[in-house]
Amino acid sequence: MEQLPTYDDVVRAHERIAPQAHRTPVLTSRLTDAELGLSLFLKCENLQRMGAFKFRGAYNALSLFDADQRRAGVVAYSSGNHAQAVALAASLLGIPATIVMPHDAPAAKLAATKGYGAEVVPYDRWSEDREEIGRALAEERGLTLVPPYDHPHVMAGQGTAAKELFEETGHLDALFVPLGGGGLLSGSLLAAGALAPSCAVYGVEPEAGDDGRRSLRAGEIVHIDTPATIADGAQTQHLGIRPFPLIRDLVTDIVTASDAQLVDSMRLLASRMKIVAEPTGCLGLAAARERAEGYRGRRVGVIISGGNVDMARFAALLSG
Ligand SMILES: *Cc1c(COP(=O)(O)O)cnc(C)c1O
Repeated sequence: MEQLPTYDDVVRAHERIAPQAHRTPVLTSRLTDAELGLSLFLKCENLQRMGAFKFRGAYNALSLFDADQRRAGVVAYSSGNHAQAVALAASLLGIPATIVMPHDAPAAKLAATKGYGAEVVPYDRWSEDREEIGRALAEERGLTLVPPYDHPHVMAGQGTAAKELFEETGHLDALFVPLGGGGLLSGSLLAAGALAPSCAVYGVEPEAGDDGRRSLRAGEIVHIDTPATIADGAQTQHLGIRPFPLIRDLVTDIVTASDAQLVDSMRLLASRMKIVAEPTGCLGLAAARERAEGYRGRRVGVIISGGNVDMARFAALLSG
């Protein structure tokens, strides 16, 4: 296994992606702060290119391809945001991309991926193993597989969002980070360790799929069935083997948020901050609101990880 990334890798990733990635805004709301009794800093990766932080890791990983890898192309498997991120990064770098996507992925995500010029290979998310399909394609066609979270260059790239947040806000007492396979959380932990060593860092997963929390308690990676939750970006069945040791050693705790809490935070972001976040993107905010009592008078960071949600689904969730 390659070496695990360090904060140095996050710094180098940041230099690599800076010309292409947005330095996303950090939003605040006085009214929300007053209600919660703390100071909230929202790092808005829903406003990142292609609508999620995933562009950071994908662009960093693809930038590091050698000439042969660039010529042959990249393959990725994803239910959405990683697919779009790899497709966009590949088109910017002139690398051919093949994306393995569930045949029932949201139409907008499928269209966006194809729109970046990628070839889409559909699979059945309930009966087929996307990792196997991705690996087979890589072998048959000589493509380089870039996984959504279990890769040192992806993890380092994802850490650049928290790095920007700490650079902008200075000291934070806590940081809440959405958690699926652990790419974003492991990268955020590297950034926090270097820039804000006293900051408590929480991973937040959907209540229906708390494999990360169980893995932390067990001291080893726990596998679960695909959880039923509206947080489709965190419907992972297990943490990655590379993110896991960093999370195990550095995270303060892993907590959960219910679907109802996610919808409530989507509503708060839309009505008060005028921004659209997808359900998965609200995991951190939902958990921070739930734990506000424990951080009274403190400075709390949240990563709003993505904003890719169909408008029809957005409206249905908010009116439900
Ligand atoms: C992928 C994704 C996550 C989870 O990230 P991991 O690196 O897999 O933990 C969270 N939010 C959004 C919007 C995502 O696309």
